[in-house]
Amino acid sequence: MEMNDKRKRQSMILYIIIAVAIALGLQRALFSNMTAASVKQVSYSEFLTMVDDDEVKTVSLNQSTSAITFTTGEEGVTYETTSWPNDDTLIERLEKHDVKFASKIEDSSSQLWLYMLISYGVPLLLIFLGGWFLNRQLRKQMGDDGPTMDFGGGGFGGIGGASKSGAKIVADKDNQTTFHDVAGQDEAKESLAEIVNFLEHPEKYAAIGARCPRGALLVGPPGTGKTLLAKAVAGEAKVPFFQISGSEFVEMFVGRGAARVRDLFKQANEKAPCIVFIDEIDTIGKKRGVSINSNDEREQTLNQLLTEMDGFDNHKGIVVLAATNQPDVLDPALLRPGRFDRRIPVELPDLAGREAILKLHADDVKMEPGVDFAQIARTTPGASGADLANMINEAALRAVRMGRNRVTQTDIEESVDTVIAGEKKKSTVLSEHEKEVVAYHETGHAIVAAVQDGKTPVSKITIVPRTSGALGFTMQAEEDEHYLTTREEYKQRIAVLCGGRAAEELIFGHMSSGAANDIEKATRIARAMVTQLGMSDKFGMVALGEQRNQYLGGGSDLTCSEGTAREVDEEVQRLVEEGHQTALKTLRDNRFKLHEIAHYLQRKETITGEEFMNILSRDDGFAPASVQGGAAQ
Ligand code: ADP
Ligand code: MG
Ligand code: ZN
Repeated sequence: MEMNDKRKRQSMILYIIIAVAIALGLQRALFSNMTAASVKQVSYSEFLTMVDDDEVKTVSLNQSTSAITFTTGEEGVTYETTSWPNDDTLIERLEKHDVKFASKIEDSSSQLWLYMLISYGVPLLLIFLGGWFLNRQLRKQMGDDGPTMDFGGGGFGGIGGASKSGAKIVADKDNQTTFHDVAGQDEAKESLAEIVNFLEHPEKYAAIGARCPRGALLVGPPGTGKTLLAKAVAGEAKVPFFQISGSEFVEMFVGRGAARVRDLFKQANEKAPCIVFIDEIDTIGKKRGVSINSNDEREQTLNQLLTEMDGFDNHKGIVVLAATNQPDVLDPALLRPGRFDRRIPVELPDLAGREAILKLHADDVKMEPGVDFAQIARTTPGASGADLANMINEAALRAVRMGRNRVTQTDIEESVDTVIAGEKKKSTVLSEHEKEVVAYHETGHAIVAAVQDGKTPVSKITIVPRTSGALGFTMQAEEDEHYLTTREEYKQRIAVLCGGRAAEELIFGHMSSGAANDIEKATRIARAMVTQLGMSDKFGMVALGEQRNQYLGGGSDLTCSEGTAREVDEEVQRLVEEGHQTALKTLRDNRFKLHEIAHYLQRKETITGEEFMNILSRDDGFAPASVQGGAAQ
């Protein structure tokens, strides 16, 4: 208590100082022609140049004397332009450059009055407001020893030109985004179409007494177009779009988050029908009271959000959309009926979706005719819409670098590599021996892949180091989209991942660190097989874990006893070892091909799937019996 009193007094003094300083600043800025040390004369054209250069801060236009007085950020200096020609474009120009301006009819008495008000009234008001605000903050912070007090923050509503909570709420009026800008995601668009309809004709729904969804939750991995979809809904319905991001609330001053939410909904209420979009809702919507250092501020914000969502008049046509890539951490209260009761999955695009997204973004750049987007879509399983958009942009940049004015297929193929594995890294110079090891490693992956599995042919092998740290990679393309993966296929994937290390062991008799990533991936697949997919002989169809962070590549939390957990580990180990043995055997059987291709790769650094398959299936007496000849195209 004592501590708080002392802090309060200190804070109060600080507040008074700040208030007086602000008042003095205001006085200076607004009445600099009365107090300023110097007035500089400039011509009208000089004035315009300064406006265009964004130097001018405030302008007052005197209608009766046709003089313009203005200030730049410069201390104590006022500029004056004595003749002001009839210029209709001036106001527009000032607005364009964000200059604060006022026109005034000379009237020194009213000016004096204003002067007095600002000199004495404002500090008093600030002190009053500040004290009140401080009090409120302190009361909230009792028991919470937040070390710093943020004076710069809120409380000065209206003065800084911000809205009451100081919230920067984006209402996008010129939102041109529509569903045409979102490729793929047909199911998501379908679910959202009803919301669009509701926003367009809220009265239709009200007339029949239908309760339209208040909120919908867009869930999916990062970069799949959730933000884009939300914007498109507003664009389709031609309604305002209010956007805030959950991450803005983090680390916010106590009480500000809730105030901002209140403010947001107040504005939305005035502008209804409209969309309120809360991006990254998981940052405020985490389950309450689960962690030890529960974040009081976040809970308040969340509570306010819930209150607002329950409170608003649904017939007006406010729809709250939210997006998250961690739906499992959300507070169940958010998902209750009447809140975010609709869940709209926005998944990674499938083959057709990827092609559509590539084509859509390619529309914005100049393309060489005849680019095979389907082929590129096949080599990019797992890429998000954002990745694909990025690939097209990288390709365009590359075309410019190469001095061309059209983007070619090769540009895109190169940029796929860049997005997947990072830029080519020139500074990494591998010794010939290291290069040989990498070549064998990658060839190992490729051969195991080709021999066991005709469905995802190898499309490229490269041993050019990348900025991501990868020294090489083997790319496999999907033939067709398939949605179910069998146990055999998972086992094959593990074997392919083990292929790199197996080749190193077989040829050099030693292991290198290059396989760390492969091992991690193989282990993850094996673990999922055992704990989630019911694919192990030992446990059968029992889910032993709960999935966590589904969209962020997280694994699972085990939900079994400690003893079982140990057995799970053993089973995982067994599956990976099985894959390892399969890989070793495959490579032993194809030892000559392994040598031949690895040496070829070492020389060429990058080879296509076709070249690879040509060598692998060439009948030079060593052709592997099990290769399906036509697998590569
Ligand atoms: P999220 O919010 O899901 O993380 P965004 O909506 O911010 O993803 O997407 C980022 C960018 O990726 C978009 O601006 C767009 O250029 C591109 N993008 C993502 N998904 C798609 C899609 N389905 N169609 C077209 N472009 C997409
Ligand atoms: Mg987003
Ligand atoms: Zn590898």
